[in-house]
Amino acid sequence: MSKLYLVCAAALVFLFSSSMASDENKTLRTMMVEQQIKARGITDEATLQAMAAVERHRFVDGAMSERAYEDRPLPIGHGQTISQPFIVAYMTEIVQPKPEHRVLEIGAGSGYQAAVLAEIVEKVYTIEIVEPLAKSAGALLQELGYDNVEVRHGDGYYGWPDAGPFDSIVVTAAASYIPPPLIEQLKEGGRMIIPVGSPLRTQQLMLVEKKEGGEVQTRSLMPVRFVPFTRTDD
Ligand code: SAH
Repeated sequence: MSKLYLVCAAALVFLFSSSMASDENKTLRTMMVEQQIKARGITDEATLQAMAAVERHRFVDGAMSERAYEDRPLPIGHGQTISQPFIVAYMTEIVQPKPEHRVLEIGAGSGYQAAVLAEIVEKVYTIEIVEPLAKSAGALLQELGYDNVEVRHGDGYYGWPDAGPFDSIVVTAAASYIPPPLIEQLKEGGRMIIPVGSPLRTQQLMLVEKKEGGEVQTRSLMPVRFVPFTRTDD
């Protein structure tokens, strides 16, 4: 009898503390959206809602999960990082995601940016060159119920021709130039966001727009620092 009582009490404490932890993370996420994202000019409602919904603490290294909602990038293992929340929101808003869109991401990393996009669009395809990251991102996205995301291990330079063309493309690693296959796989009227420049220095976040008729326009938006875009033959 007393054993049963103890087990029940322990279960209650566990349930109570895990619901407290999830409330706490929700509060931290609301603060993140208000103080880091809205305050810096992000206004797209779908982007703000997605940032408030995705459990960022699930995508960072266990030991770092307490820092998940801070205004900074964080390590995700294999020398890679998850971008600062504002940058994720900025890159999401700038490609103007719509519910019927199909989006390609290059650099799945932890899967966080893919999850944010998947909150808004119909389908996200994401490619990751580091195999263990591709595997863990795929498993986590599945566990969290994002069944509109497909993760593939490979070199994103070539895009995902079978699934294209895409309404937008989000590249989350810094390339020295814009890979031509990605421009090819962008729909007319589509938008791509990509950090371009030397991996050792600050890069420029570039917006690439493919106009109706196929004309391509690019412009620099702001200086950023991303991990390098690597190639399988590097
Ligand atoms: N979007 C990620 C951020 C990951 S950092 C997130 O939300 O967590 C950038 C990622 O790009 C790294 O994981 C890196 O391994 C990957 N990457 C670099 N070059 C690549 C390439 N050629 N193809 C696919 N992924 C690449």
